[in-house]
Amino acid sequence: MAERPFWRQLAAQFPHALFSVFYPEDCRICSSPLVRFSRVPVCPGCLASPRPLDDAESRCSRCGLPFENPAPLHGAHLCGLCRRAATEFDWGRGWGAYEGPLRQLIHLLKYDGMRPLAAPLAARLAEILTEAGPVDLLVPVPLDRGRQRRRGFNQSELLARELSRITALPWDGGLLRRERATETQTGLTYQQRRLNVRGAFRVRRPERVLGKRIALVDDVITTGATAGACSLVLRRAGATRVVVVALARARRRGVEPKPEPLRREAACGV
Ligand SMILES: [Zn+2]
Ligand SMILES: [Zn+2]
Repeated sequence: MAERPFWRQLAAQFPHALFSVFYPEDCRICSSPLVRFSRVPVCPGCLASPRPLDDAESRCSRCGLPFENPAPLHGAHLCGLCRRAATEFDWGRGWGAYEGPLRQLIHLLKYDGMRPLAAPLAARLAEILTEAGPVDLLVPVPLDRGRQRRRGFNQSELLARELSRITALPWDGGLLRRERATETQTGLTYQQRRLNVRGAFRVRRPERVLGKRIALVDDVITTGATAGACSLVLRRAGATRVVVVALARARRRGVEPKPEPLRREAACGV
């Protein structure tokens, strides 16, 4: 086979050389040396290592909340919130549990700005989207403007865009707006999270939502409070069905979230 001209070899290597300037040549997860330059500083083994939640695991059949054992599902395969019809979205899944290498990959995307990770991670979202039923439109969960400016991107938007490339479904990153900054949800209880996100979202173009089956795209579902607040405004704007697909779902270890005592309408920001 004829050798490629020198200039083409140089051109092919340029992006790799560029990345090697910015990225150390060790895998950011297992620290083993990377033998090939890659757009992501993670070895193929670590990239492939996260495992999806097994169907045999104990999880709520509606919102996908995984438990360490089946006892909280009371044989109905529904968590306490879904049994009380207090979950705002129709169906939700995290591809895997929010732990181990999947958690590390999400952190590399989200906090270290490793945007090329969005493509391989979105391939996992495509797997669970096939179980979600018919979907017309992908909508990323928005960040507030201040946080998006500081971070430089919205990881859910990157995921929705890549998911759209894989599935050929349209996506709209400007449809939902986070109207106000909310405190970080880390460390808050379910009820605190629901109060924190109450009225935080608004649908900007309700005509695009009317009659649509929407898949909300997020990186992590922790308690479902944020996805629930988004679902409420989308449904109020006329969405016929809202499902939530996320890379990871935080595992619930025994304490079940309790439903808000306030009326559901009061939680809606539109
Ligand atoms: Zn590795
Ligand atoms: Zn549930």
